[in-house]
Amino acid sequence: MVNYLRLSVTDRCNLRCIYCVPREGLPLVDHSQILTYEEMLRLVRIGVQMGIKKVRITGGEPLLRKGIVWFIGELNSIEGLEKITLTTNGVYLPEMARPLKEAGLKGINISLDSLDPRLFKHITGMDCQERVIRGIEACQEAGIHPIKLNSVVIRGINDKEVTQLASLTFERDWHVRFIEFMPVSNGIFWSRERVVGHKEILERLSSEFGPLEELPHENLGGPARCFRLRGAKGIVGLISPVTHNFCESCNRIRITARGGLKTCLFSASEIPIIQLLRSGLSDHEIRSVLEEAIREKKRAKKEAATHSIRISSDYMSQIGG
Ligand code: SAM
Repeated sequence: MVNYLRLSVTDRCNLRCIYCVPREGLPLVDHSQILTYEEMLRLVRIGVQMGIKKVRITGGEPLLRKGIVWFIGELNSIEGLEKITLTTNGVYLPEMARPLKEAGLKGINISLDSLDPRLFKHITGMDCQERVIRGIEACQEAGIHPIKLNSVVIRGINDKEVTQLASLTFERDWHVRFIEFMPVSNGIFWSRERVVGHKEILERLSSEFGPLEELPHENLGGPARCFRLRGAKGIVGLISPVTHNFCESCNRIRITARGGLKTCLFSASEIPIIQLLRSGLSDHEIRSVLEEAIREKKRAKKEAATHSIRISSDYMSQIGG
């Protein structure tokens, strides 16, 4: 059942994470080629009629797009949409956490690859870890829940910090999630050796903290397997697209910053939904296109479940990570 839409609102990002974007940046899409908020709202309304219950706003860096708080408020008024969440690098959260909460944001994912400010700067290209930590605290104070902190674990870069990051869950009811390093973004910085598989992360955590309790899968949750360290308030999540194929249980579709519909992160093709919206098609006709894409996703899932992961030439910041 496809019930989850990831919506990229921009291809712009203020960070240059070594594994995501080349340091010199990427060619940017002209504003006229990016979906307007009105177009996105129309798409979400059509999606909700087809069973979409959760929208995650992403990018690029979604908080860079002007009017994002207004947009979240508009999404919040769509009947039948149960959950609006956001993925951000957190740099603008010290100022924006409260307005986002007031606009109706239900949960937030904040990227946090390191607790060491120097390493954070090395990874992201910007000296802003302190702002991100303040941003996380601002979300806590504003009452945004759940707060999920995402770390892409890269051997030789930040893998030594896994236990330190996980131990944040002793003090706070945050989710600390470890994401396997995927060969997207043209395989920039990626090699099989740099991937730290989840078996290894589980071993490291249990040797440091003792046996972990596995928790039931979240309703409308993504592909994370969730665990609790003994005595912890929060949750440790493991997302393992490289070592565990989860195509069979995938419940999501994506709209890229350029207004393309992608039914799989690793698919080379996308449907130019922006052109369909701008060519005067009715809601009914757009819905038929979305339904056919979802039927095709279901057909492709069985086959994809046997494939191993491959390098994708699409950049995460353009698809919407
Ligand atoms: N700017 C926002 C942020 O930093 O969270 C949203 C966009 S970013 C592309 C979304 C997520 O994709 C981040 O958590 C990032 O770490 C993750 N990501 C990017 N490249 C990745 C890769 N090669 N493997 C795994 N995750 C990746």
